[in-house]
Amino acid sequence: MSAGIVQAAYLVAAVLFIMSLAGLSKQETARAGNYYGIAGMGIALLATIFGPDAQGTSWIILAMVIGGGIGMHLAKKVEMTEMPELVAILHSFVGLAAVLVGFNTYIDHGELTGALLNIHLVEVFLGVFIGAVTFTGSIVAFGKLRGIIDSKSLMLPHRHKLNLAALVVSFLLMLYFVNVEGSTFALIVVTLIAFAFGYHLVASIGGADMPVVVSMLNSYSGWAAAAAGFMLANDLLIVTGALVGSSGAILSYIMCKAMNRSFISVIAGGFGTEVVVSSSDEEQGEHREASAEEVAEMLKDAKSVVITPGYGMAVAQAQYPVHEITDKLRAQGVNVRFGIHPVAGRLPGHMNVLLAEAKVPYDIVLEMDEINDDLSDTDVVLVIGANDTVNPAAMEDPNSPIAGMPVLEVWNAKHVIVFKRSMNTGYAGVQNPLFFKENTQMLFGDAKASVDDISKFL
Ligand code: NDP
Repeated sequence: MSAGIVQAAYLVAAVLFIMSLAGLSKQETARAGNYYGIAGMGIALLATIFGPDAQGTSWIILAMVIGGGIGMHLAKKVEMTEMPELVAILHSFVGLAAVLVGFNTYIDHGELTGALLNIHLVEVFLGVFIGAVTFTGSIVAFGKLRGIIDSKSLMLPHRHKLNLAALVVSFLLMLYFVNVEGSTFALIVVTLIAFAFGYHLVASIGGADMPVVVSMLNSYSGWAAAAAGFMLANDLLIVTGALVGSSGAILSYIMCKAMNRSFISVIAGGFGTEVVVSSSDEEQGEHREASAEEVAEMLKDAKSVVITPGYGMAVAQAQYPVHEITDKLRAQGVNVRFGIHPVAGRLPGHMNVLLAEAKVPYDIVLEMDEINDDLSDTDVVLVIGANDTVNPAAMEDPNSPIAGMPVLEVWNAKHVIVFKRSMNTGYAGVQNPLFFKENTQMLFGDAKASVDDISKFL
């Protein structure tokens, strides 16, 4: 394949990636968006493997078959609830790849001299730094999402000073690295500093801020790929990395706005959020319980019902019976709608994906801002496996780790039914005063079994 054809193929692939991002921005076009992305990546791979710069094609194909096989096996096996963990661990691979590419191009930098060599050394240094931060940061995010690492924030003394020191030392090392025209020692030291920095940055972010971290690491992985693109002088990798980097940054910003968090404070490892956290997980009074039959009666008498799903609906895979009771109630003339919190579940759009999978009509699935004002005129709210996203402490307790985060104000409805298995806390680790309110009743048990039971009585 000639260099001209490769460039043309890269251009087509870049356009397909942009179309893919555009498609993924809406539920209706998301499937097409995925296909554009697959086509773009297919073209990019073929053009790179059979292009004039590629050597050892059979080795590349062998590596692709092994890697692709493992990837396919894992992706097929993974549950929807484990998706964010998979994404986090995949980001770590991008980071590690950038570190390895950095070391590789440092060792084998050809005949560069003068300004070109200096530019190359800066590329290598930054690529290795960003890649290493992404690598350990993503591993911590994976651990937190999987529950292997505590989701609460790590509060080391002088943590911001430690971060600042790591950045200053890395910058000085970069000056030295360029000045002496390359130093393996400096590159190894900065890699170790960046590993520790990435670990600390994500470990310091806790409670409910994880959604921002996941999209932020997505952004970092893009910049790591772009850095690798510069080191390898591969235009498509630069474009693709920049697309991922900027779309991840925009998503992080949107998530921050939705959660009323400062973007800078979250990406700087919780900088400026020195609150005395009263993250009590103790029970705060008496709670009352309802049976499936009582809930079914309540629903039959209701004129308007709002369902607010959360992570527990994903765990229980309750979206199918939820759709079933929605249909039954709508057939009886009840106005049923869904209220979706922007960070419900464990990844952006998690609830929308589950409800779409169960074929719940899009027009009754509303965003938090669209439904909040209507909740005071709602007869029954069904909180299905949601907790932090319906926690009034976010509005009432300034010391709560979720303070300031907008929530679904379900307690304004006439009756609230909370579906969960125990009195345990949600992801942020704080107890929920909603459970002890006068108009709240708990329906304990697996959400799918509970909704199935209700369906039988409808
Ligand atoms: P939460 O994690 O706050 O609560 C989930 C609730 O579901 C728990 O109270 C749990 O209680 C219940 N539950 C779990 N399994 C079942 C089951 N099988 N049947 C019935 N109930 C069940 O979920 P939310 O969706 O309200 O909030 C999401 C949280 O996750 C936020 O803090 C958010 O910041 C964070 N997060 C979000 C991400 C995103 O991008 N959306 C990414 C990372 C984190 P019990 O154990 O008693 O059953």
